[in-house]
Amino acid sequence: MAAAVGTGLFRAITVSPPLHGIVKHEPGVKPAHHCGTNGCFTNPWPSFRERPRWNMFFSVLSNQIRNMPKVPDNISSLIPASTPNWGMGENVNSIKATWLGHACYLIELPTPAGATRGARIILDPALSHRCFSSEYLGPGRITPVPCKTEEIPEVDAIVLSHNHYDHTDTKSLQKLVKQHNAHVFAPLGNRPYLESCSIPHSNIHIFDWWESSQITVDLPSSAKSDSSSEGHNQSSTVQATFKVICTPCQHFSGRSANDRAKTLWASWAIEEILSSPSIPGSGDGEARAPKKIWFGGDTGYRTVFDGENEDDVPVCPAFKEIGEKIGPFDFAMIPIGAYDPRSLFSSVHASPKDSVAIFKDVKAKKALAMHWGTWILTTEPIMDPPRLLKEECHKSGVPEGDFDICGLGETRFF
Ligand SMILES: [Zn+2]
Ligand SMILES: [Zn+2]
Repeated sequence: MAAAVGTGLFRAITVSPPLHGIVKHEPGVKPAHHCGTNGCFTNPWPSFRERPRWNMFFSVLSNQIRNMPKVPDNISSLIPASTPNWGMGENVNSIKATWLGHACYLIELPTPAGATRGARIILDPALSHRCFSSEYLGPGRITPVPCKTEEIPEVDAIVLSHNHYDHTDTKSLQKLVKQHNAHVFAPLGNRPYLESCSIPHSNIHIFDWWESSQITVDLPSSAKSDSSSEGHNQSSTVQATFKVICTPCQHFSGRSANDRAKTLWASWAIEEILSSPSIPGSGDGEARAPKKIWFGGDTGYRTVFDGENEDDVPVCPAFKEIGEKIGPFDFAMIPIGAYDPRSLFSSVHASPKDSVAIFKDVKAKKALAMHWGTWILTTEPIMDPPRLLKEECHKSGVPEGDFDICGLGETRFF
């Protein structure tokens, strides 16, 4: 694997400052998700309702202790893991998506003509054994990480959805930035934490919902490459440009007892920018439309308390707005797990029924599941999320395989 790891030494990345434009805010008026004067954030929709905090804390604790699901003896065949090959050399005009467990995907955009690879973006890289502040406490993985962080091929961008430990892992971030000099894209409020990880100020880019940046990366040229290295030569690079757009989702944040909702949470859209995109009807067989991707991060869709009917409560309008303003998406990554019991977790975690509704709302053409099969965070049986996803797709008329699950370390092409 070492041959696949580039040094990033000569690579240049240009990032434009975050810009608004997709959704206009009234000058001088605070956006609805910025609450109060103490710099915290909220979910500004009736689809989010909170239980009293003390009530919530004790309910979660006693529920977790009493009802944690058992790990099936044959988990390694139920959720197969393989060493990733990242789809190298295959399907150069496709998006390559490799699942590294939980919400972590490595995405490679199509390879531009004359380059050895496409731009690479890793989403929510939490690759440690435990998802907590200590390597000795907190949930441990029930399935393996399919590769070591050191074996991940050169990445250009790291995109974070929010600061929960199962999505933002200090060790993984530090290793990836050090190895690849990658740039980090995160929602509002995360700069102090990222700087505390010794990530250079200039590599950190912070966004509010609906802000976007254009990123241009110098990729190694195939003209100067040989089969043994992805290293860069300053005189021989090919540029690739893409856009990242920070989009809303229904969740919360916090890494300790006193920082709840002090930083923003987000989903993200990634859009290829081609120098010569196809013109419909031009008959140009070479050109193609730019690819669009959506990453759901961690999200709920509605809030259902005991005694309420799922179909009678309001749903989060943000996903339809994303679909209308930015969609359709060629490929989406959508969370399907950590949703039971619904009275405790529905407001912040999608059930498979919610996930399929989100798939339709954002106008995804294809999707892969995430946020399941890695850590036990809630009480649903471990294999329920993929089983229910299949059922919900069938009920909603989503063709078999359009919203799929994949194995750990597996690469799919879109
Ligand atoms: Zn979370
Ligand atoms: Zn999560």
